[in-house]
Amino acid sequence: RRQLFAATRDLPAVTRDGVAVSLQVNAGLLVDLPQLHASGADGVGLYRTEVPFMVRDSFPDVAAQVELYARVLDQAEGKPVTFRTLDVGGDKVLPYWGGTEDDNPSMGWRAIRIGLDRPAMLRQQLRALVCAAAGRDLRVMFPMIAEVSEFVRAKHLLEREVQRQSAKGGEVPARVETGVMLEVPALAWQLPTLFDLVDFVSVGSNDLLQFLFASDRGNPRLARRYDILSPPALSFLLSLTRQADDAGVRLSLCGEAAGHPLEAMALIGAGFRILSMPPPGIGPVKLMLRSLELGPLQAYLHHLAGLPHASVRGLLRAYARDRGV
Ligand code: PEP
Ligand code: MG
Repeated sequence: RRQLFAATRDLPAVTRDGVAVSLQVNAGLLVDLPQLHASGADGVGLYRTEVPFMVRDSFPDVAAQVELYARVLDQAEGKPVTFRTLDVGGDKVLPYWGGTEDDNPSMGWRAIRIGLDRPAMLRQQLRALVCAAAGRDLRVMFPMIAEVSEFVRAKHLLEREVQRQSAKGGEVPARVETGVMLEVPALAWQLPTLFDLVDFVSVGSNDLLQFLFASDRGNPRLARRYDILSPPALSFLLSLTRQADDAGVRLSLCGEAAGHPLEAMALIGAGFRILSMPPPGIGPVKLMLRSLELGPLQAYLHHLAGLPHASVRGLLRAYARDRGV
């Protein structure tokens, strides 16, 4: 099967009825980057900047960050890279940075909350990104946004760094795009305001699911209890894709679910056209996609989203099997 997946590398990611889906990879370390090209993915849909911070023993300064981000862009060889600003706290611990002892770390002082409360850290990171992307495209995505105002403040910090760079006479990025991760359910009720301000939105289904079902993503006792392939989760996602389509805003999904063929099938049926996943998912998801007829699946998915079941995984599996997907 490995050979089969490798053979799909240069084939287009298109359904049988001609719908193209962009498949991208999640990455965090430079060693992940070769996977971008080996898998034939279109870009890095999620670059987790906290990962290189986690493997060091002290906070990297601006110069070290510039070097790192520039190497990521170099290695991507012109394919787009979406840099997510630091998402520390929760399950991501920096050994050299204390933070706080929250009772509920994943709902605690983490990610953009730290970034806005301690802006020196976020500003340094944004400065490094602006400098590393001089003359190239820069995509920046902010994690754990719960209110539109948090995005506005974060974007303002980024704009200030761009101005600072040009005031210094430095080269600025050719184009800057900004977006948010949708991981906090409350943001889904602010979409009309949000869509006017962002270039893109990426659903972080790992965190989103844990908050939708109030179910710790790291607790093995809960691991199989709630399902993204369930009417509540699918209804939620359908509502997001419909609103993003109406607003003409680029919407992607970048959680682990995107890398599992059955889940990816449901996500495409629910309207997602950009999926970002761990690199080993690209081959299997592309094979699934190329055998899929999207039209009937879309109608079926709307039907499934209205069923009174806890999970529709079995029905989707049977659907895929019956159609040779
Ligand atoms: C997510 O929450 O789905 C996500 C992609 O981000 P992370 O797994 O890094 O929290
Ligand atoms: Mg997350």
